[in-house]
Amino acid sequence: SHLHSFPRTAKRPERLSAALSFQEPGAFRVKSLGELLRALAVFRLCSYPALVNNCGKLMSVARALVGRRLFSLMLRPTVYAQFVAGEDEGEISQSMQKMSSLGLRPMLAVPIEEDLGATSGEKTYDENLEAMLECVRMSHSNAWSKEPMMQLKMTALLSPELCVKLTTLIGQRTLNLNLLVRALDGEPIQFPGLNESEVAHFLCGLQRLNKIAEASINKVRVLVDAEYTYVNPALSLVTMAMMKKFNQDGVWIWNTYQCYLKESRSLLLEALRVSNDEGFGLGVKLVRGAYMDKERKLAEKEGRPDPVHRCWEDTNDSYNGSLDVMLEAVSQKPERYRIIVATHNEDSVRRAARRMEELGMDNDGGAVCFGQLLGMCDHVSLTLAKEGYAVYKSVPYGSVEDTLPYLVRRAQENQTVLQGIRKERELLRRELHRRLGLRRRWCRANGQNASQVGPLNN
Ligand SMILES: Cc1cc2nc3c(=O)[nH]c(=O)nc-3n(C[C@H](O)[C@H](O)[C@H](O)COP(=O)(O)OP(=O)(O)OC[C@H]3O[C@@H](n4cnc5c(N)ncnc54)[C@H](O)[C@@H]3O)c2cc1C
Repeated sequence: SHLHSFPRTAKRPERLSAALSFQEPGAFRVKSLGELLRALAVFRLCSYPALVNNCGKLMSVARALVGRRLFSLMLRPTVYAQFVAGEDEGEISQSMQKMSSLGLRPMLAVPIEEDLGATSGEKTYDENLEAMLECVRMSHSNAWSKEPMMQLKMTALLSPELCVKLTTLIGQRTLNLNLLVRALDGEPIQFPGLNESEVAHFLCGLQRLNKIAEASINKVRVLVDAEYTYVNPALSLVTMAMMKKFNQDGVWIWNTYQCYLKESRSLLLEALRVSNDEGFGLGVKLVRGAYMDKERKLAEKEGRPDPVHRCWEDTNDSYNGSLDVMLEAVSQKPERYRIIVATHNEDSVRRAARRMEELGMDNDGGAVCFGQLLGMCDHVSLTLAKEGYAVYKSVPYGSVEDTLPYLVRRAQENQTVLQGIRKERELLRRELHRRLGLRRRWCRANGQNASQVGPLNN
């Protein structure tokens, strides 16, 4: 197939590199002046390590000092507005409508973050289920719903404590895929190694996941997030069971692979093997990984080897290598395998686009699509959309209170995604200068003083 597709695309690589050089500040013309200034201010704040490294603590202190309401009022027009779509369907729709008109597709996310120690009862998990079913409904029933995707945090439906225990059982090989598929079907399975209350909670959790999958099939693709290495094996096994049950005639359930993990390549190859042996569709969200610092600290504390690659270059090689493996698999069996290239990294995006050309694959998102987070690297998303690729924006929503841990992580990430953000800041600044230049010229022509004129909002 290489030889076949090459002559057709022989001249394309240069056009492709030019189109995807991401040098054009024009991508930001759609932003209002206020949005430009906000983005610049937020990214500027994210560039101070002392501020970012302590922002969780600083936010708690600030909230205690000024009170919840005032704190919320302070955050809403700034960091929150940069990274979160809003709180209710009206606000979310407004934000999505705009994105949809720019050719971006929706990937809604309910950023409920559960971690060890926050023991919740069945009632909390049932409420989270309702929130996620609402997310399924919103994702597919609006004017902006084009081939919608949504993200699912499994630890919002199944306690992290149980996931840790399941992870050890998987290590001892006492849990298998078929057992989980039967439990999803509602069979009262007795899982070896779990006590009575753990079994009861596990079965409830699987029923919650089953409800979400049933509501989503043929409507919304559900992408299960990868979290920490002490729960990931459990999340992956449950996700595989969901794939086996629901991905028989289409790829509706997807899993996430974090390429910063040393074992990520072998996990991906294993997933490809299982999906092939068992005959179900495999959807892959390929990311570098968002929890590097905590993974490293934990490994050090417990005297384990670091699960994360030694340096950024190794993570990069890992990402690009897995990207090649998946694109090859997708090009051979597009009905069986799917990938979303979830990254802000321009080189990885270009690499994927080039490989798609070489393999003769379409841009329209049938089998390969791209993903970036709301408020991050819009110059990448908008350029890809303009070039006809299928691009999703991950759009978290919820109250200031509920999205705080998510916001903290975004601020921290904006330090590591430095290169992309530096570039974005530069492009934002150029667009700002372009507009201020326009405004000064307009004022001169009309004999007015620039400072007496209201903001130029186009
Ligand atoms: C649609 C979408 C969904 C996502 N879902 C998830 C998810 O389910 N789970 C999850 O964990 N993340 C998820 N992410 C977040 C993703 O992992 C981050 O956006 C990503 O880490 C940033 O990497 P990049 O490829 O965009 O940028 P780059 O700037 O190219 O890379 C930065 C990343 O490289 C890695 N890195 C940096 N320094 C080092 C170092 N010294 N050694 C080793 N590695 C290093 C880290 O992973 C860091 O985040 C998602 C992102 C998107 C866009």
